Amino acid sequence: MTPFAEPPATQYDLRFSLLGVPVRIHPFFWLVGLLLGLRGDLTHVKIEELLIWIAVLFVSILVHEFGHAAAVIFYRDRPWIILYGFGGLCCHHPSRHDPWRQIVISFAGPAAGFLLLGFVLSAIHAAEHQVGTVQLGLVPYPVFEPFESANLNFLIVQLIWINFFWGLINLLPIYPLDGGQIAREAFLLSDAGRGVERSLWLSVIAAAGVAVFGVVVLNEIFIALFFGYLAYNSWTILQRYRGFGGGFGGGF
Ligand SMILES: [Zn+2]
Repeated sequence: MTPFAEPPATQYDLRFSLLGVPVRIHPFFWLVGLLLGLRGDLTHVKIEELLIWIAVLFVSILVHEFGHAAAVIFYRDRPWIILYGFGGLCCHHPSRHDPWRQIVISFAGPAAGFLLLGFVLSAIHAAEHQVGTVQLGLVPYPVFEPFESANLNFLIVQLIWINFFWGLINLLPIYPLDGGQIAREAFLLSDAGRGVERSLWLSVIAAAGVAVFGVVVLNEIFIALFFGYLAYNSWTILQRYRGFGGGFGGGF
């Protein structure tokens, strides 16, 4: 994901460097991860499953952000990564703005998640357990022949779930998801004057559509609230952008 805004540093931040990329983890990352893990039946919380969930979330979001970081490094800029309450950010100061370059960087995050998913499925196959798909609406969703350990099965189910859907959701043409960035650059390539405005309109409509889908079809109030907020967020950016007579240069 790309920033709403870079969160301020706190004394509880965890900082380290991985493969030469500085990583900072804001305490809200763990808090929101915990809350997401506690969804469902609160009277039967399994500590092992909660810990596995947090570990899977941490690794998956880190892999996604390192996908962006690898593309940034490929273009000889210096990335840094932040994990916070809204997920992850991979930031850099672009040495120059180039739509195709930005599209590659935005796409590299979801692509890294799909690679991790492919690696997990290959590992299951290598352990001589069958891998297949079930049709989930329009998309084929990966399933596997379970192992003996319930915790291992839980770990794999979460890894598949998050890397599959996190990648797909991130490719929706909604700000500030990766797909929203890709849509903006694609619109800019075809119409530099009105590209940003058009991509914001698309973002409002797509986010509102997903919010309605979340309530009506999935009956998932969390999805509805999240995308309802993104629709509102895009709408306010659009109003501000028009207020500036189109002079708002992006950069959020
Ligand atoms: Zn991303």
